[in-house]
Amino acid sequence: MHTGGCLCGAVRYRISGEIRDVWLCHCGQCRKAQGGAFAASVPTPREQFELTLGAEALRAYRASPHKRRWFCGECGSPIYSEVDGASVLRLRAGSLDEPVTLTPVGHIFVADKAAWDCIQDGLPQHAGREPGR
Ligand SMILES: [Zn+2]
Ligand SMILES: [Zn+2]
Repeated sequence: MHTGGCLCGAVRYRISGEIRDVWLCHCGQCRKAQGGAFAASVPTPREQFELTLGAEALRAYRASPHKRRWFCGECGSPIYSEVDGASVLRLRAGSLDEPVTLTPVGHIFVADKAAWDCIQDGLPQHAGREPGR
């Protein structure tokens, strides 16, 4: 079981089950949405995610027609993204309460990364989405 939430504490959630992989997405939308070089996303089965506080604070933005990016309307923290109808959502790793054991598995949309974004770890780099997705 894991817990997490936004910066101001208005939004809290619980994950019932194990989560493991972190994908680092360097696409232009993730950059803007996070205000950083990439979004760190953890694939999480939809049914394992439970909002425990802040349903009224949680807001969604559609940067693309088929996908919502959920964030706290009070403090702006990204919480997760969700493709319509998908069984897996993409939790933002930084919203999880520590300690949590996660494994970064690779970089995606590296072709779109910022010019100042210097990837120096040895993880696999993919030009677009991760293999098999
Ligand atoms: Zn908040
Ligand atoms: Zn992205």
